[in-house]
Amino acid sequence: MAASRIVIENCAIATVDADDTEYASGHLVVADDRIESIGAGAAPDGLENVVRRVDGTGCLATPGLVNTHHHFYQWITRGLAADHNLFDWLTALYPTWARIDESMVRAAARGSLAMMARGGVTTSMDHHYVYPRGSGDLSGAIIGAARETGVRFTLARGSMDRGRSDGGLPPDFAVETLDGALAATEETIDAHHDPSPDAMTQIAVAPCSPFSVSTGLLREGAELARRKGVRLHTHGSETVEEEQFCKELFGMGPTDYFESTGWLGPDVWMAHCVHMNAPDIAAFARTGTGVAHCPSSNARLGAGIARIPDLLRAGVAVGLGVDGTASNESGELHTELRNALLINRLGAHRERALTVRQALRLGTYGGAQVLGREGQIGSLETGKLADLVLWKLDTLAHASIADPVAALVLGGAAPVSLSLVGGRTVVEDNRLTTVDEDDIARTTRDEAQRLARIAADG
Ligand SMILES: [Zn+2]
Repeated sequence: MAASRIVIENCAIATVDADDTEYASGHLVVADDRIESIGAGAAPDGLENVVRRVDGTGCLATPGLVNTHHHFYQWITRGLAADHNLFDWLTALYPTWARIDESMVRAAARGSLAMMARGGVTTSMDHHYVYPRGSGDLSGAIIGAARETGVRFTLARGSMDRGRSDGGLPPDFAVETLDGALAATEETIDAHHDPSPDAMTQIAVAPCSPFSVSTGLLREGAELARRKGVRLHTHGSETVEEEQFCKELFGMGPTDYFESTGWLGPDVWMAHCVHMNAPDIAAFARTGTGVAHCPSSNARLGAGIARIPDLLRAGVAVGLGVDGTASNESGELHTELRNALLINRLGAHRERALTVRQALRLGTYGGAQVLGREGQIGSLETGKLADLVLWKLDTLAHASIADPVAALVLGGAAPVSLSLVGGRTVVEDNRLTTVDEDDIARTTRDEAQRLARIAADG
């Protein structure tokens, strides 16, 4: 017997289930933390313990958006190195990033999470890989911020151990040792990973990239993840320069290098995957490796266009990622639906390279697949967790567009009328209900200024 029910009626619904079922006007009943019923027309009569009725007239209900790649700490280093490619941008920013501390990381995580949640994200991840010595409990600060915001969350505990003196890109003072990084990652899993299906906090093992991590850390990181039963995440095939780096150092391209270190598999998802040839795509499909597509960041850094239509056709699971906000200053995921569609049409020179419904699927079900959580979230279906968003589409920005999915994907960023995570309200009338946006804005500005001062002092 449900302790409480929320009834939502009179809204359009895009379920993003296997058949892409949609209702022009339908209902959703949320019982405690799960979807109890969904369908056309009004909700069933005689429901007990209804604590709230929502009139969704003028709104579209979709699954909550799932963000599969991000670096929260970058919220306080936005707008820097604005006209650089990836390697030059990293080289410009590493010295500043190496000075972050717990208070800065907490503020940046709150900022990143608040911005995403306000825009309809109900599940996110943070790939955090900068752990300067003596900087405090950065992982704990990030996880605390996610709990406070109320968003379902995976911390991809990152690491770097290939400093400049070992042929890597980051300066030596910004890296950990191999053993130190592995031990800290294992401690984070033991302290925070929740394997249950309705988990709010999960941990993944996430060495940063081939050019900042030793082969040993990749190999042993993969072994650690499999011993602990958690997922693996890293950056891969992002730029031409990375491909050259791998060929020079390892005598093979990034995908072959990942395969040789145990980094392809159904428990792995990789950010970017821009520079992939046909055998690389086939290897991802064969091994069940997932992709986090980050179109805005790839454009901002001039990295190139990932071959998403080809990856999808091969059967690869693809989700969307904001990426860090030092390379995608908006920090929003709903705009990535539109950017994914536009950029892939340009890349493939085809008007149907991605349809509006495929774009919505990437941002919802595809993301859930990539995080290994598609059994619980990513589509609106009876029995699944009630992670859902009501988008307001009857204002100036969208009211003249008849197809609500086209309005959401192709139109301006739609306001969120209501967002639920496991049945708990996170956004109401375009304002966060869990945290104070104005307080977060002030704190992030102060911490960004403090970091800039410390970095300038050297
Ligand atoms: Zn990234």
